[in-house]
Amino acid sequence: MPELPEVEVILRQLRPGLQGSTISHFHVKRSDIIQIGLSSHQWYIGSRISGLDRQGKSIIFTCQKGKDTRYILAELGMTGLFLFRSASTGYEKHIHITFMLENAKEPMLHYWNPRRFGRVYLLEEKELQQFTQRRFGVDPLSMTHQDFHALVHNTRGRLKAFLLNQHKIAGIGNIYANEILYDARIHPNTQGNQLSKAAMARLYTSMQAILQKAIQFGGSSIRDFRAPDGSRGQFQEHHIIYQKTGTPCPSGCSTTIQRLITERSSFYCPTCQKHVSSH
Ligand SMILES: [Zn+2]
Repeated sequence: MPELPEVEVILRQLRPGLQGSTISHFHVKRSDIIQIGLSSHQWYIGSRISGLDRQGKSIIFTCQKGKDTRYILAELGMTGLFLFRSASTGYEKHIHITFMLENAKEPMLHYWNPRRFGRVYLLEEKELQQFTQRRFGVDPLSMTHQDFHALVHNTRGRLKAFLLNQHKIAGIGNIYANEILYDARIHPNTQGNQLSKAAMARLYTSMQAILQKAIQFGGSSIRDFRAPDGSRGQFQEHHIIYQKTGTPCPSGCSTTIQRLITERSSFYCPTCQKHVSSH
């Protein structure tokens, strides 16, 4: 599933490819993918893409037509991709939406999604606000250490579940939650409100560092993630703990990595990530 780093990688290609362009055609092949609010998809034809942003794992297109502004919010679900025309050969079967663009570096953008868990929402300003308030917590890359501290400190549940909770922190999925907790040397079942100040600081630093590093490597190409130009991410080569059950812990502690089944698989080192709150 594309998580924050993969979505950020997509965005960094969409911006130079699409920003400022005009949607000349909006072709919907599967209408069950589109969730229409007050807008119909016809409205967007002739509108100008004035902004491309991210909320958690979703991408938001800001579209302007005269004085009217509306939005396209795209979820990628488990397997969704945005692909430029040059990268779409072989993907034809599961293209559900195509945008034709004028005055753009890229003349065409496809929304591809074989498992169809993602949805594309057409929203007016108020609908977008309601949608994002209801669904998305704070962005891990833009939150301060103080905000993070306050949020974690009020969490009685397990940290792993907290990191995955999109209503609290938006954008982290199972790959990065595991990598972040190992990097910070914190057991996935530790309760948020039991973290020491030092552990809290490590968790914040690791969260920022792992997500930024993953973006630099183009994200993780698990389940065939591709950027819009078709390129693969490389961060899967740098996963330290995710799906490494039975391999030696890279810290040299002579322990093998274990797997815990909770709401999602947790991979951890029982020596380096002790289940105590005072370290
Ligand atoms: Zn270890």
